[in-house]
Amino acid sequence: MSSFFRGGQVLVDAAWPNKADEILEGVRQTGHDPLDIKHLLLTHGHVDHAGSAAEISRRTGAKVYVHAADLALTSNGEAGYDGITVTPGIIPKLVFRFVIKPGGTKYESFPIAKTFEDGEVLPFANDIKVIHTPGHCAGHVSFLLPQDGTLIAGDICSNVMGLSYATINEDRALARASILKVADFPFEQAVFGHGNPLKKRANQLLKERFIPTKLK
Ligand SMILES: [Zn+2]
Ligand SMILES: [Zn+2]
Repeated sequence: MSSFFRGGQVLVDAAWPNKADEILEGVRQTGHDPLDIKHLLLTHGHVDHAGSAAEISRRTGAKVYVHAADLALTSNGEAGYDGITVTPGIIPKLVFRFVIKPGGTKYESFPIAKTFEDGEVLPFANDIKVIHTPGHCAGHVSFLLPQDGTLIAGDICSNVMGLSYATINEDRALARASILKVADFPFEQAVFGHGNPLKKRANQLLKERFIPTKLK
């Protein structure tokens, strides 16, 4: 198994469609050659995370990975919003109406090299641990980088104006359970699909914000 993964740079998520140039330029600006990207890990199959995966994979040769429960989203290039609820409140309502909906739901599909298992450790980039965190969508995963003390949280929640639920969720109660599940792992920092990173005490801050007595 390890030879399957060994070597090369790892990219997490691929933004909206038609963003490949921007992403690869961003990689270049960090001092890396985009052609060294061998693995593209998707936190989930929504269009704002998988939209440019096909093009990035084509241009770099990177293999693409996603959780099996999101194959329904990635395999036909249409990550629709069936079964989604918008989080209560005026801001989520506005974000859904003016940002998410106009972005559409279609993107070019791509082959998946391998699906993730909960708890598996990927033998590259200092042994990334995959944590299945369903709720935002069924196949959502977060990535723990133990040697950096960093969680790549994806859309388990957002941190745009403080920590709050993602704008849309398939199952908000399950999303909260997933947040509390990841928060049991040790990490100081967390980065999110939407919003600012947490630079210190990230797992504690998630716990404090999402403990069941505080949020509905
Ligand atoms: Zn999402
Ligand atoms: Zn997102």
